[in-house]
Amino acid sequence: MTTQMTPAISPAVRATAPPRFHLLVKPSGSTCNLDCTYCFFLSKEALYPNSKSRMAEATLEAYIRQLLEAHRTPTVMVAWQGGEPTLMGLDFFKQSVEFVNQYRRPGQEIEYSFQTNGVLLDDDWCAFLKEHNFLVGLSVDGPQPIHDTYRLNKGGQGTFKQVMRGWEFLRKHGVDFNILCTVNAANQHHGRQVYRFFRDELGAEWMQFIPIVERATAETLPIANLGWSERPGGHRLLYTQEGSLVTERSVGGEQYGRFLVDIYEEWIRRDVGKVYVQLFDVTLHAYFGEHLLCIHAPTCGYGPALEHNGDLYTCDHFVEPRFKLGNIHETHMLELVASPPMRRFGDNKRDLLTQQCRDCDVRQLCHGGCPKDRFILSRDGEPGHNYLCAGLYLFFNHVRPTMNIMAQLVRRNEPAARVMEWVKAEDAKRGRNDPCPCGSGRKFKSCHGRPASD
Ligand code: SF4
Ligand code: SF4
Repeated sequence: MTTQMTPAISPAVRATAPPRFHLLVKPSGSTCNLDCTYCFFLSKEALYPNSKSRMAEATLEAYIRQLLEAHRTPTVMVAWQGGEPTLMGLDFFKQSVEFVNQYRRPGQEIEYSFQTNGVLLDDDWCAFLKEHNFLVGLSVDGPQPIHDTYRLNKGGQGTFKQVMRGWEFLRKHGVDFNILCTVNAANQHHGRQVYRFFRDELGAEWMQFIPIVERATAETLPIANLGWSERPGGHRLLYTQEGSLVTERSVGGEQYGRFLVDIYEEWIRRDVGKVYVQLFDVTLHAYFGEHLLCIHAPTCGYGPALEHNGDLYTCDHFVEPRFKLGNIHETHMLELVASPPMRRFGDNKRDLLTQQCRDCDVRQLCHGGCPKDRFILSRDGEPGHNYLCAGLYLFFNHVRPTMNIMAQLVRRNEPAARVMEWVKAEDAKRGRNDPCPCGSGRKFKSCHGRPASD
């Protein structure tokens, strides 16, 4: 076990820095054993051309030590992300737990999370993940034909079967897992089918749906449409947040909202209190002024990303030279998180809202979405509006009546799940041939009025 000098935290920063932040760590950089077509993170390997992209033990120790020093909350999240973190091997993570035990202060509770494509999971991995109560995020995009559209291995083959093997190991060892599903051109019209697959076939109780929005310029679009991995003799782009076009794999702006509503209408009838869908939970908390997710918070800047060599960036979506804050071997991570460039980055989320967002009647739920998606013109022709706005508005507007009821129930100390009684009563007033309230245009009986077993 190594010990090393660590950069200091100045008293001024200590007094004003956020008490907690959510650091995403990329121990293998953007290196991955798969080749998912939409994954522009693969292109970020080009940022470190002469590097092995493997976190050294000294960087691991500096990271854990500084993270634990920086937090003034009893709970600290140690969150591993990729690329694919399992490429580091199990011993790396065993060592990380040893460093945590070496540096944690009395009373500090550690929550571990780990995002993986699942392909390398086995008995040894899952026994370790269970022993230390990791919450594992497993990337799956839906049933096999949907998943295999873009989630490919290096040979261009679909990975569904390999991922399901990893899922079986997770289940066998009783590891808590969360499905991370991207919303893309292949599954955007199949929200309910995808949701039911996770709930009924995979037994998932936690899910997140992440829109795929791959930006490009007119010049880069043809190459971007081919994907982001390295090809012999081929062009390779470094993905940056530039351009107002999107690849053909990206979800449609309005369709993203329709996908969410499709799932919400299933969830609100059957699964409130049983299945946790991140955005639904985030939306309900917003009624109480709590912002659980940076994307729909007024400001951001509390979710930096740490590269394998100790470089710290403002956010995982902005791992680009101009958004690098510094390196934790030179400057303590709390100094970087509290630095003026990071505060400016976070405040810009609020300060650069378009007038359309400022006037929007769901602003308190949406807050303009993630700055990475703000690249279209607003209704008034103002640049910097969110590409997903039509879908975000559709979703937040659609859920308001039932979210209002859930918020009232929670205020009265009653279970939010009682909203399902209200929905059932409303459904009883509806004719089977009436239009489905999801807005699909289909009859209720052949849309969300169908039994769960259909
Ligand atoms: S840029 Fe987007 S993902 Fe990154 S911290 Fe801000 S809201 Fe969150
Ligand atoms: S729904 Fe659209 S206009 Fe309203 S806050 Fe969100 S991005 Fe802005």
